[in-house]
Amino acid sequence: MEQRLLTPGPTPLPPQVREALARPIIHHRTSQFQQVIKESEQGLKEIFQTKNDVFILASSGTGAMEAAVANLLSPGDKAITIQGGKFGERWTELCKAYKAVPIVVDVTWGKAIDPKLIAEKLAADKDIKAVFATLTETSTGVDTDIKALGEVVRNTSACLVVDAISGLGAVDIQTDNWGVDVVVSGSQKGLMLPPGLGLISVSPKAMKLVAESKSPRYYFDLKAAKKALDKTDTPWTPAIGLMIALNESINLMKKEGLQNIFKRCKLEGEAIRQAAKALGFTVFADPNCMSNAVTAINVPAGLDGELMVKTMKDKYGVTIAGGQAELKGKVFRAAHMGYINKEDIIFALSTMETVLDEMGYFTQHPDIKKGAGVSAAKKVLG
Ligand SMILES: *Cc1c(COP(=O)(O)O)cnc(C)c1O
Repeated sequence: MEQRLLTPGPTPLPPQVREALARPIIHHRTSQFQQVIKESEQGLKEIFQTKNDVFILASSGTGAMEAAVANLLSPGDKAITIQGGKFGERWTELCKAYKAVPIVVDVTWGKAIDPKLIAEKLAADKDIKAVFATLTETSTGVDTDIKALGEVVRNTSACLVVDAISGLGAVDIQTDNWGVDVVVSGSQKGLMLPPGLGLISVSPKAMKLVAESKSPRYYFDLKAAKKALDKTDTPWTPAIGLMIALNESINLMKKEGLQNIFKRCKLEGEAIRQAAKALGFTVFADPNCMSNAVTAINVPAGLDGELMVKTMKDKYGVTIAGGQAELKGKVFRAAHMGYINKEDIIFALSTMETVLDEMGYFTQHPDIKKGAGVSAAKKVLG
């Protein structure tokens, strides 16, 4: 049975990436690999929309988040963490792990942060070193207005740090234009690779904090990463195969064009949302902040959402995600990022309707016809 992943990480691999991953390994301390580093660096700068260095770590996305916290903060430093879901909470936990002092700004799950709140907190305390935000909160399907946050943070002494692990390559983030100091990402979402690369871009303003930080670090020391990158090298053995494959996905992204990718992800998201509506479902996120990378849909009363997700996967090979943490059993989530195309979306919706039918959903809701979701999605996708 063909397997289709519509999960917000990992995402499917394009054939060009799979081919690159099947090549023989090369050695990393060679001019051949230096060419790979140069190409990745240049390509990532375009995707991150920055002139800053982008460091490529051998880790999952959380490793790059940890690198951000360990390198920017010292024990006792204050930092704002914006918490509107499971991944926002990770910033808080990381700050605590490094004995920094998180000033937690809780946002109701499914809603967007009001940048004014951050402006007030920064004005009230000039010692705040950093503001930690999330571009796409994957647990709730909310996109944060990073441009607005940038306006609030850029003229203060604090650095703006954004977790764009699922957002990068799906949702616009103009790192330099919007004054974002640190952008963190991972390979297995919008970048169409297997997990294993952690990426982090660092502005000169943030590099000052890196130089000052007294936090313990070794593997994730960005001073070592910087020293190596300046010589087109890496401090440790890099994830050679993944970096070679990264250059294939960068080429694919350049060919499609960043703006076209954003448009496609948005359109696919809209198709899923319209299909949900036609099936009598509602979207978890507020309309003003619905993500263009992942959509969380409320499980309607009377439906076993977890059974629906499980049946789609086990019986039909279509994997979507359930809810995480407090949303477990309450939502299901579908990704529309990376190498997920219109046909995948239609196929997944059609499978969902088949399973809903088997579960008696259309008998319980005689006003909703099987096929309504697919036809609403097709209308959007054209
Ligand atoms: C997936 C994800 C992470 C975690 O990344 P790992 O690669 O699992 O470490 C962090 N933040 C967001 C927003 C994510 O979507």
